[in-house]
Amino acid sequence: MSLQAMTAILNKIKEYDRIVIFRHKRPDGDAVGSSLGLRGILRATYPQKEISVINCDHTDFVAFLGEEDGPQPDEYFREALGIVVDTGTPARISNPQYALCRELIKLDHHIPIETYGDLQWVEEERSSCCEMIATFYNTFRDELVLTKEAATCIYTGMVTDSGRFRFREVSPDTLRAAATLLETGIDLETLYAQLYMKDFEVFKFRAHVYEQMQITENGVAYLYVDDATKERFGLSHEQASASVSYLENIRGSLIWLAFIEAEGEIRVRLRSRFVTVSELAERYGGGGHACAAGAFVRDKDEMNKLIAEADALLKDYKETHEGWL
Ligand code: AMP
Repeated sequence: MSLQAMTAILNKIKEYDRIVIFRHKRPDGDAVGSSLGLRGILRATYPQKEISVINCDHTDFVAFLGEEDGPQPDEYFREALGIVVDTGTPARISNPQYALCRELIKLDHHIPIETYGDLQWVEEERSSCCEMIATFYNTFRDELVLTKEAATCIYTGMVTDSGRFRFREVSPDTLRAAATLLETGIDLETLYAQLYMKDFEVFKFRAHVYEQMQITENGVAYLYVDDATKERFGLSHEQASASVSYLENIRGSLIWLAFIEAEGEIRVRLRSRFVTVSELAERYGGGGHACAAGAFVRDKDEMNKLIAEADALLKDYKETHEGWL
């Protein structure tokens, strides 16, 4: 099944002289890594083709991986093949010009809520979209060229989206794909320093989060970051959003949530161990993976409702399961 989809994608890539790669809004390491990594492979393999990554928002999170390409007028897209990576639903695609492309490919690892594009390769059991790009390269490695720079992008997406190869989706195939990337000589020491080093103020913010965090009766840990707090610590939206991971290892807490104010909305990041939270996210206009999802709430009332639903979900889980630590 996946070989068929990969072959169809490679054939489409060969057909087009212009290819534009898109990713989701507010990108994470996987979205940036898979788009820049795929661009790197295609540019190195087909130097005569025009390959670009064109999106409408910017992130500093993994800026060390390189720059995307600048904006283009609508006409540019009409002759192009579009490839959307790491994006489950069309509403989440960063650049609405994706819709102008002559043909469109969806290449993704999210639970498919809504399909789009002329050709899809979706494997929700993959630990990252970058793992799929690495597998794509591996499958056609006699034809495709992988540079160290492209491999670094793809490896970064793999390690960030799999929690450093910790999450349950990590399989023997994941590590085989990662091994292929390492063969190019990726500088892991520099890469991990880039991922772990934070500004001094971020550590102050972390202390603030630990002071403020709350936990429900059944163990849902949560935090709220308003605009004033972001300003006080000089945080970008990405830095504030990363705080969800601070709640990750509280004993007895199998669900943890971060509510982050952003442009008049409250963005929710849901994380869990064992318990599925994607359906809860879907009830609040979001989605994602079983144990890592996102959504939005309008106000504090809706936030409290979501917390209460998460608490009931966790109560039920604990009552009906064993071995959850
Ligand atoms: P995040 O908290 O942004 O890292 O999101 C966790 C996962 O859920 C990622 O795979 C996202 O792509 C997905 N996700 C986040 N927000 C949404 C949303 N509003 N709708 C659908 N999927 C989402």
